[in-house]
Amino acid sequence: MDAERRRIRVSGRVQGVGFRPFAYSAAVAKKLSGHVENSGAFVEIEVEGSTENIESFINTLETKAPVPTHIASITIEAVAAVAGEGFFIRRSSHDEHGTAFPSADIPVCDECLAEMNDPENRRYGYAMIGCSACGPRFTVTSSLPYDRRVTTMREFEMCDECREEYGNPADRRFHSQLNCCPKCGPDVAYRSAEGETFAAGRESVAAAAALIKSGKILAVKGLGGYHLACDATKPEVVERLRARKLRDEKPFAVMARDVEAAMAACEINEKEKALLTGPERAVVLLRGKSGSPVSEVVAPGNAFMGLMLPYAPVHHLLLKEVGPYLVMTSGNLSGEPIICDDNEAVAELSGVADGFLLNNRPIRTRCDDSVVRERGGEKYYIRRSRGAAPDPIKMNNTFHNNILACGGELKNTFCMGVGEYAYLSQHVGDLESGDTVSAFEDSVEKFSELLGSRPEALACDMHPEYLSTKYARRRKDKIPVYEIQHHHAHIASCMAENGWTGGPVIGIAFDGLGYGLDGALWGGEFLLADYSGFGRAAHLRYVPAPGGAAAIREPWRMALAWARAANCEAAKTIIQKRIGDEKMEIVAAMMSASLNSPVTSGMGRLFDAVSSLVLVRDEVSFEGQAAMELEQFAAKTRVETRYEYLIENNKAELLSWGECENIPSAPSALIIDPAPTIIGIVDDIANGTVAPEIAAKFHMTVADMIKETCVRIRGASGVSAVALSGGVFQNMLLMESSVALLEENGFEILVHREVPCNDGGLSLGQAVIASAMMKRK
Ligand code: ZN
Ligand code: ZN
Ligand code: FE
Repeated sequence: MDAERRRIRVSGRVQGVGFRPFAYSAAVAKKLSGHVENSGAFVEIEVEGSTENIESFINTLETKAPVPTHIASITIEAVAAVAGEGFFIRRSSHDEHGTAFPSADIPVCDECLAEMNDPENRRYGYAMIGCSACGPRFTVTSSLPYDRRVTTMREFEMCDECREEYGNPADRRFHSQLNCCPKCGPDVAYRSAEGETFAAGRESVAAAAALIKSGKILAVKGLGGYHLACDATKPEVVERLRARKLRDEKPFAVMARDVEAAMAACEINEKEKALLTGPERAVVLLRGKSGSPVSEVVAPGNAFMGLMLPYAPVHHLLLKEVGPYLVMTSGNLSGEPIICDDNEAVAELSGVADGFLLNNRPIRTRCDDSVVRERGGEKYYIRRSRGAAPDPIKMNNTFHNNILACGGELKNTFCMGVGEYAYLSQHVGDLESGDTVSAFEDSVEKFSELLGSRPEALACDMHPEYLSTKYARRRKDKIPVYEIQHHHAHIASCMAENGWTGGPVIGIAFDGLGYGLDGALWGGEFLLADYSGFGRAAHLRYVPAPGGAAAIREPWRMALAWARAANCEAAKTIIQKRIGDEKMEIVAAMMSASLNSPVTSGMGRLFDAVSSLVLVRDEVSFEGQAAMELEQFAAKTRVETRYEYLIENNKAELLSWGECENIPSAPSALIIDPAPTIIGIVDDIANGTVAPEIAAKFHMTVADMIKETCVRIRGASGVSAVALSGGVFQNMLLMESSVALLEENGFEILVHREVPCNDGGLSLGQAVIASAMMKRK
């Protein structure tokens, strides 16, 4: 029978994950001739042989690819047979037309770990071990196609043995671009707090472990940056780390040695276990267990703990020595960008760390850990970063141009829209200082170089003070800039990642605050929206946020604002008893005179106010803390009752932006007024109702507001799809209660899966809106 030939193009995360050696072995096993190569966006394979063997080969590709592989699509085309002999891996040829897919970092694989723990192996105890299917990628690569010369390993020449592995198709290090060993590759070194080196290789790990065991703090270089590590079972050292890091109450993440250790510290279901051990090795938010060996001061007053498993070989080496739990907190100081250079790390962290475990493989791109939690058996992102970035998210619509969306201010990410893919960046952080802005610019530069595509248009938030907006505006003369409303971006982000093409949705955007069309600080919004515009159909009643940013740090201010709005003397008395007359009068006067008191419809701020009233939470040390505590209290009990609230018609103008198709012209927007809720809560406090019950009842009230408002908007517009976005939907209790009520009432529901609902997902929405606007032009 004549031989046939096929050209197979595989796209997705297929480069730098050991896919070519895998295809090679599969082809050889099926006695096929041909070749495989990385070619721009794809891995391209040509195979020649019998139809049966080709089919079986394709089946192997689809079902048996190495773990980190993620196949987005396979296209197969028949081509003329050439009767060639043998199967080859071809050297990378740069395809000018393609958009290459970079890979995220991959945790060390089991085979490499087994070698690392084998005293007979030449890589015994070697902290830089890796293979074709594991190790850093994104954080060490500067451009594509992925090859050693475009990584930070280009300085290291392979020794003969390593070269042999690299060239041997039967070896699992065949074409492993970062291949190295203790003889030829980079290695770890232990330095004192002053930066003096005094141990290298295996001894350095021992020195670092001894430091931790003596109750001290270690800075350790991982894949995309540095962690500060200490024994998580020793409260004294955890407190010391907290003091040195100037971090009051924000929980620290913990790295557990293995799944067993994780299960001794937290309640873990099967899905959560899968998230923990998944290729992303994210920090997973888990419910703490009573009797957990991990000290309480790691996550003070928090029912949840952020837990991850080791992913770099050095983590495994350390945890084997020091015990099952390490605090592993990002080595950047509060508000500062991630450090990515050894000398910088020593300079910056010498006041915090008592010793350093470093290595001489440079980090090209800094990348923080991802944070996820489980929701309905699925992954739900709090932060999408290492292990996920820069994997693209497939869109249902093609981007009109190469778009760079600059994201928001807090939890910043940016997004490159290229073709039908959205490349969401790693977590850049809070853009509040000049330093973080240079980190942002640097990340944008590196990302563009990695993708090999320059932006042709920019998208940013409308907030004139966001540093990311200023970045975009500075470029206005050279490149078109689209300013996108914050909550529209939240909703579009949720629609886009769900591949939504079904016309307008009711977008519920609940967050702390974002810049509204009228200059007010929005955050409790119901938008009738599609990708190219929206009308604001309903919103939470405006109240002043006295002191602006101070109102976020001191939730009692929001409690006072709502007490006044509700005309509730009893609420004012509660606040006054704690805060005192003087402070309270100053803040009340500020509001009366509209002095430094921007009006806000932020749902996050309403949660703050209620948390303050119920839980005596007057000050917070991080945004969202008060609301988080309220959720945890509420989760302790179940209630069927709710508080009263009002939905008022014809009180506000329906503000709109852009051109949203099919939005019925409504004369006015609805206003949701929770004043009766505040009064009910204060009554309950007076009656001695316990805090968890009030908190739970408040959650049910907000879920009911959502349902009721959606029913009315559907009645007026006929739109029955609902998208839930904004940071408030990190609150699982609110999320689940709302989804349940909406489902009962026949709504179709879109929620986030691929990107965070908080401002970390904003850039994706900005990119798709800008693209839709360009298309309309
Ligand atoms: Zn490996
Ligand atoms: Zn070597
Ligand atoms: Fe937001």
